[in-house]
Amino acid sequence: MPIPFNKPYFSGDETRYIEQAVRSGKISGDGMFTERVHRFFEQERGYQKVLLTTSCTDALEMAALLLAIKPGDEVIMPFFTFVSAANAFVLHGAHVVFADSTALNPNLDARTLEKLVTPRTRAIVPVHYAGIACEMTIILTVAGKHGLAVVEDAAHAIDSYYRGQPLGTLGAFLFHETKNIISGEGGMLAINETRLGARAEVIREKGTTRSAFYRGEVDKYGWVDVGSSFLPSEIIAGYLWAQIEHLADIQGQRRAIWQRYYVALAPLLSLGIALPALPDYATNNGHLFYLVCRNLDERTALILYLKERGIWAVFHYQPLHSSAYYVARHDGRSLP
Ligand SMILES: *Cc1c(COP(=O)(O)O)cnc(C)c1O
Repeated sequence: MPIPFNKPYFSGDETRYIEQAVRSGKISGDGMFTERVHRFFEQERGYQKVLLTTSCTDALEMAALLLAIKPGDEVIMPFFTFVSAANAFVLHGAHVVFADSTALNPNLDARTLEKLVTPRTRAIVPVHYAGIACEMTIILTVAGKHGLAVVEDAAHAIDSYYRGQPLGTLGAFLFHETKNIISGEGGMLAINETRLGARAEVIREKGTTRSAFYRGEVDKYGWVDVGSSFLPSEIIAGYLWAQIEHLADIQGQRRAIWQRYYVALAPLLSLGIALPALPDYATNNGHLFYLVCRNLDERTALILYLKERGIWAVFHYQPLHSSAYYVARHDGRSLP
């Protein structure tokens, strides 16, 4: 039987909860299912404050708004990541300074990070590739020393940890169709700085105090800040809640499949093809299984070889610093 690139997990409860949301007559945002998801992350996973969003892209854009990113600001992130992280800041006129990967895995190299910091740097955006934690102690130290914000792109990183701490306790976090926990489209912003929490709620609700109004804290709601519509409907939250209830099963299956790949593909190491490498501070959440080839020809041949045997492997991110949109804006550093 062919092995597809990914297969969305379906427990059966998703459609039951969607029907429940529809029948309740409350399908706009911030209803019962959104509440349950928020409570799960805040009470069972130790996140300070979370807000569901319609995508991880939205959560990253909210982070850029919360940090009041403006033209001339610089933001450091890995060149090997999804375009949403860059777009969120470029939309506000920021300049993205791309960092190289470590020799061990595709994560941003924290040890060469500090030399990219200038007086214009505002934020560092580590991406936990394949759910493998970046070296957060060094990143947080550099950020602390220079007064920079840290926005974690934890799109791959649900149920994964850095020295026992859940990834995404500092930034954006997401659920998406090819990710471990899905809702079609969807995301979540986790805010770990108390002073940003109230403003995040306002930005998510079109720049208004609507969230406080629904809680009965103000008697009418008004326009108090900039914002947009970042909240998902209860139809999405109901789907997502069913997935969260099955998180242990999803993760168990993913880790078992990942382990099977690792054992079966280990002989590739002797051919010079790298397998996933987990530092001792990181955990494996089975988000994706990757191989690193030495060059394009080798990669093309490997993908073709697998395809002829019914296995759908794909290549991943195109480097952002040499992309059509950014190549002329990149500072020219080579990022091998
Ligand atoms: C998928 C992904 C995103 C974007 O998520 P959306 O929900 O599709 O907006 C951002 N960053 C990374 C690292 C991703 O893998």
